[in-house]
Amino acid sequence: MKKAGIVGLPNSGKSTLFNALTNQNVPAEKYPFCTIDPNVGVLVVEDERLNKLAQLEGSKDKVHPFFHIVDIAGLVKGASKGEGLGNQFLDHISKVDMIFHVVRCFKIDDVSHPMGSVDPARDIEVVEIELMLKDLETVNRRIEKIAKQAKTGDENARFELYFLERLKHHLESGKPARTLERNEQEQIVLDSLFLLSEKPVIYVANVDEWGLEQELDKIVEKMAKERSSEAIVVNAQVECEVRELPFDEAKELLSAYGFEEGLKKRFLDHIKRALRLICFLTATKNEARSWLIPEGTTAYDAAGLIHSDIQKGFIKAEVIAFEELLRYSSFKEAREAGAVKFHGKDYVIREGDVVHFLFHA
Ligand code: GDP
Repeated sequence: MKKAGIVGLPNSGKSTLFNALTNQNVPAEKYPFCTIDPNVGVLVVEDERLNKLAQLEGSKDKVHPFFHIVDIAGLVKGASKGEGLGNQFLDHISKVDMIFHVVRCFKIDDVSHPMGSVDPARDIEVVEIELMLKDLETVNRRIEKIAKQAKTGDENARFELYFLERLKHHLESGKPARTLERNEQEQIVLDSLFLLSEKPVIYVANVDEWGLEQELDKIVEKMAKERSSEAIVVNAQVECEVRELPFDEAKELLSAYGFEEGLKKRFLDHIKRALRLICFLTATKNEARSWLIPEGTTAYDAAGLIHSDIQKGFIKAEVIAFEELLRYSSFKEAREAGAVKFHGKDYVIREGDVVHFLFHA
């Protein structure tokens, strides 16, 4: 299962955001996550389509899409040289698939700032430089190793060395690995390095109640744009507080401060775009479920996700788009009307497909 890491300087609001995203009253067995590590949580996002689907199919239960989030504490200036939690912290980042980079935009005197003042542009650069320095270390280590092989005349090693030198130059000029142009063969080299600055980043401007007026979030948005990335503006503190409120009251409070509601959905939408994920739906009498899968997943692989037996005995997938299904009173009726299509193993699942797998038990 893929996961996203929350990264940022101390006191930027990482843990507060982590709590706002992952604390919930859901049965843990439905949304598995690592209970041993308190820094790993699960973001569960209501897929509204399930309400309708469960109603049509008479499903008892609903299982919404979920995604793992890791609160990665410990980054300070000098982390790449072992300051703070140093390497341990950077190792944690290397294990996540994407990064939410929390940037402090709230000015509160009784919450100290590790650099002495609130300055989003500087903070973004401090974090990015640490990640790039760590990457440079990784690239240099590989260059040392490959250079020896290249000397023996090994063509592959020479190709890799040439690319690594280009990558090194790119990082040294202060640019993250993700912005380096590459061909397919070079991509393979990059993938083998697990570089931190290669991971997709979404910037999170954590503002306070007056933050929107101070327009510090605009700096974060501008810097995100310059990096071909996206930004989310939140007030992590208020989001934590409204979790306990009924939906309407939460919405009212957030809009009084000028914030959009639906924090979790906004985050999942960003995750889906950054990692190219989609949701498909299934429904039985037992449960209606929304599954988060990579774009391009075939019916065969999707079957395997549900159960290895379904994949092993795969016969075909019955598929109808959710919107299309709404014209009928049930999947069965849609099937009888000829609206459900039959597909083989290679069918590529699309966002919002409602799928029923036929398989030899
Ligand atoms: P971390 O070190 O990045 O994990 O930061 P924390 O989440 O522990 O937050 C540090 C302090 O800042 C805590 O006292 C939070 O209550 C406070 N804080 C976090 N986010 C916000 C925010 O959006 N607005 C305000 N006013 N305070 C915040």
